[in-house]
Amino acid sequence: MYDALTSSYTFACPRRGETSVRLSAFRQLERLPGAAHPAVYRVRFECSCGDEHLGLVTHGDLDCAPLGLGEEGVFLNLMTDRLEAVDTEFAELAARHIQAGEWPWSFFCYPEEIARPIFPSSFRLLAPGSRTGSVGIAVRCPSCSRVSVNLVSPQHVDLPFVNDAEIGVVEHLFTQDVSTTLEEFSAALYSGEFDARRLSLE
Ligand SMILES: [Zn+2]
Ligand SMILES: [Zn+2]
Repeated sequence: MYDALTSSYTFACPRRGETSVRLSAFRQLERLPGAAHPAVYRVRFECSCGDEHLGLVTHGDLDCAPLGLGEEGVFLNLMTDRLEAVDTEFAELAARHIQAGEWPWSFFCYPEEIARPIFPSSFRLLAPGSRTGSVGIAVRCPSCSRVSVNLVSPQHVDLPFVNDAEIGVVEHLFTQDVSTTLEEFSAALYSGEFDARRLSLE
């Protein structure tokens, strides 16, 4: 499902049989109701064949696989900043990064005016940004549950522990339900009204 060497996910493509995409090619993530162990997300992604398709990913594939962690027995505790019940080399490496104050993924929460650590499961919408090579992300804040839109580099999304020093932030308060804010998201992304914020996690 996730290949750490290419930092990409494998999905079915109706034209090519199989396709490989990075996180930044995801367009929409939606947690499916019901399934809890593990939680399952429906992902709409942009395929290299030119179309968008739907695929399913588990919570573990989304948040743990890019860190080199398996799904079982892994719990990265955001509250205590500790990686618990894991003993692989990757996990230790990830734990060292985290103890040094580096987070696998982060975003800038506009309502709270603060940079916060997140996991890919906090991404809701992604789209090519207005600046060449940029990616617009709508993130649901794990702390305040509100949605912020940031403009980042693809590496910021695709590679754990690679965080842009400075990112673009849309100064707009989004409604809670992201599915109804798809238009709002697109409008904000192409408005060009981004403000630069430093992404330092204290
Ligand atoms: Zn395809
Ligand atoms: Zn927040």
